[in-house]
Amino acid sequence: MKNSHLEAIQKHLESRSVEIVAVTKMRSQAEIMEIYDAGLRIFGENKVQSILERYKSLPKDIDWHMIGHLQTNKVKYIVPFIDTIQSVDSFRLLDEIEKRAQQVNRKIKVLFQIKIAKEETKYGFEPSEVMTFFENDYSKKYKFVNVCGLMGMATMTDKKDQVDKEFKSLHKLFEEIKQKFKLKHFDKLSMGMSSDYEIAIKNGSNMVRLGSILFLKSE
Ligand SMILES: *Cc1c(COP(=O)(O)O)cnc(C)c1O
Repeated sequence: MKNSHLEAIQKHLESRSVEIVAVTKMRSQAEIMEIYDAGLRIFGENKVQSILERYKSLPKDIDWHMIGHLQTNKVKYIVPFIDTIQSVDSFRLLDEIEKRAQQVNRKIKVLFQIKIAKEETKYGFEPSEVMTFFENDYSKKYKFVNVCGLMGMATMTDKKDQVDKEFKSLHKLFEEIKQKFKLKHFDKLSMGMSSDYEIAIKNGSNMVRLGSILFLKSE
């Protein structure tokens, strides 16, 4: 059975050169395999336990992205297979990833999660912290992590202009870092979820993290 809804989203995003991270949290194996069979190969989970279970039970040609808050004491469990950690929100976490990645001799891609939402609860760096990091050439200190870009989540709100403003600010920071420091791998801007990905793409996102919208059933 062909899922034309999913196909339409894939085509749309492909034509805009936007990568899809399929967020599989709370989905059944059968639902996930439908997405896999449609050709998606970048999958994301927001919990260590779930990502470990998924990694074990799903095909091995999937690139796994950690997208939720990661505790330093759990880094060791995912470094053997993780492709990208999108939710790096402290330099202590970055140091731990570097240490553990070295132990397993793997390069790991990371994104810095930036606080752009108004909500108090959202994790992430202040833009100034990240600017200072690059200004001080800190990134050269790391041999096993590649800082590949930024990730951010907008405020959960129906106010589109608020979301638009927040995505604009993240895009601006992303472009500023790119132009100022000319880092080799720095080219990913992960922003946009099911409810706001159109606004994110309009504002320069090249990676969207889609959950619910991918799993809507079409006839
Ligand atoms: C769950 C989740 C998503 C996807 O959310 P949907 O609204 O289902 O698309 C994206 N990013 C993060 C960090 C998430 O935890």
